[in-house]
Amino acid sequence: MNLPIVTYGDPMLRKEAAPITKDYPDLKQLIADMFETMYNADGVGLAAPQIDKSIQLVVIGFRPYNEKTDSYGPEEERHVLINPEILEEKGEKKYFNEGCLSIPEIHEDVLRPESIVLHWFDEDFNEHTEEIDGMFARVAQHEIDHLHGKVFTDRLSPLRRTMIKRKLNDVISGRVRPKYRVKNKK
Ligand code: ZN
Repeated sequence: MNLPIVTYGDPMLRKEAAPITKDYPDLKQLIADMFETMYNADGVGLAAPQIDKSIQLVVIGFRPYNEKTDSYGPEEERHVLINPEILEEKGEKKYFNEGCLSIPEIHEDVLRPESIVLHWFDEDFNEHTEEIDGMFARVAQHEIDHLHGKVFTDRLSPLRRTMIKRKLNDVISGRVRPKYRVKNKK
């Protein structure tokens, strides 16, 4: 099922999301619905607060970019992160242009570490601790921010934030209408 996406200005995006256990009701269906919602909106990641659930669940899906061939691979890389925790930041911090399905029409360069040591559970509740990098690390960090009430525009410089203030206000007021379903503002 394609779910409506919560947009900037909704208090849900500022909440601290709760960890979940194996017996969370209909977890497999929820994960499937989150992937469907993400693909429908052409996203590469989606965190549960963005579909109005304050739980620590993230889906990620993208086609990996190959620097040698300067093209995107045919195989899709998919990840489900349950209760993810960044244990360590590694490597240099780099800028990368980010967007967010909850903040339509705004794209900004965000500084984050290139790689991280991540602890998480997958959809079958297998435990993982891995050093990850590239697109996976980038999207994971963006989505994990959502689980802690943070969005990418919070990470911009005060000057950049001032410059996009009007655009953010347009999202808050509901004037920005993306092609995908969004949760109605009260
Ligand atoms: Zn986002």
